[in-house]
Amino acid sequence: MTLAGEARSTTRGPLDDAIEQLAEVCQILGYDEGTEQLLAAPRREVTVSIPLRRDDGSVEVLTGHRVQHNLSRGPAKGGLRFSPHVDLDEVRALAMWMTWKCALMDLPYGGAKGGVTIDPSRYSSAELERVTRRYTSEILPLIGPTRDIPAPDIGTDENTMAWMMDTYSVANGHTVLGAVTGKPVSLGGSHGRATATSLGVVHVALEALRHLRLDPVGSTAAVQGFGKVGRGAARYLAENGVQVLATSDEHGAVWQPDGLDISALETHVDRAGTVAGFSGGTVIDNDTLLALDVDLLVPAAVEGVLHAGNAGAVRAQLVVEGANGPTTTEADRILQERGVLVVPDILANAGGVVVSYFEWVQANQAYWWSQAEVEARLTERMTDAWQHVLTEADERRLQLRAAATCLAVRRVAEAHRQRGLYP
Ligand code: GLU
Repeated sequence: MTLAGEARSTTRGPLDDAIEQLAEVCQILGYDEGTEQLLAAPRREVTVSIPLRRDDGSVEVLTGHRVQHNLSRGPAKGGLRFSPHVDLDEVRALAMWMTWKCALMDLPYGGAKGGVTIDPSRYSSAELERVTRRYTSEILPLIGPTRDIPAPDIGTDENTMAWMMDTYSVANGHTVLGAVTGKPVSLGGSHGRATATSLGVVHVALEALRHLRLDPVGSTAAVQGFGKVGRGAARYLAENGVQVLATSDEHGAVWQPDGLDISALETHVDRAGTVAGFSGGTVIDNDTLLALDVDLLVPAAVEGVLHAGNAGAVRAQLVVEGANGPTTTEADRILQERGVLVVPDILANAGGVVVSYFEWVQANQAYWWSQAEVEARLTERMTDAWQHVLTEADERRLQLRAAATCLAVRRVAEAHRQRGLYP
């Protein structure tokens, strides 16, 4: 089973969804075509070749991208993805969503994303280090603490960020801790960054369950994906009394109708590297997981997993998007017609970039906060943003995605307007 491979029922891609979401919101806000074009167009994009010497001495040439979608509210911000599915259009979509996410959370950033088309599981750590350093060198003129600040995403981690920070620092002749976020805590990373996205997803999920008058204690959930986002989300949901009945990764899915023992599952994953083979649950397939009779569904893997072909089968009342772009525009319409509440990615998974912002602030000031301080500030930001989006949705009679995107797009358009067009 591959999560990404079976993601879509059509040839449309995430960029089509991102552009349609923006078009809908520009219409709601009454923006003219020029403004919509300004908001849609990436400000800068670069595609680079990454020649890699493999451990066996052979040479392979990989391709990487960095797209800065918008810089109106501050330096660009966004992750770096290593995945075989990376292409320029995907990176463009992810960069646009970063612009809206940062604006929605009122962070002083624009949006960016990077990607290298590579399956990291097929390369040694030394090879991945060479890929990261060469990619960083190639995009060097574009990045930096006041220009564009990368962070982890699918297939990258704190080691990748340490290599990026080091490559940037060596090129500049001094250590620049604010050049990337998601670094190891021992190297200018922030306490609480590694768990921030998952914690943020759960803060919002608990608010949304209560909004639907469901008591989180005893409610049920399925979490698709058991990586950086899904694993923590499953753990925090379980800690808050939600029964997580099923979860999955690219190798398989497991289901336990009385609720999975998440800490036993984590022990299994640490040993086996996958949820597959976990003895505390029954094997199911990915489509069955998405259609389980649960209160809450958390897609926390890749884009486009909920599409026209399977959205009609979703039985959850609430979908909280841990991944970026997991619901296609067609699926969104189907879920809306069926009365399913969808909490959009730019709100639900914003905890990661919020704590990236905290990390950047701490690095720039060389003054470090405790885990408790980081988590308290994260909780406040997530709950405020949830309330804000809910109010906007009520006032304008919108779905949560349109409301969140309206709030974000308005802030970006306002920054454009105030700065004026140059020359
Ligand atoms: N990759 C994460 C995201 O999609 C985090 C980005 C960041 O921290 O800059 O939101």
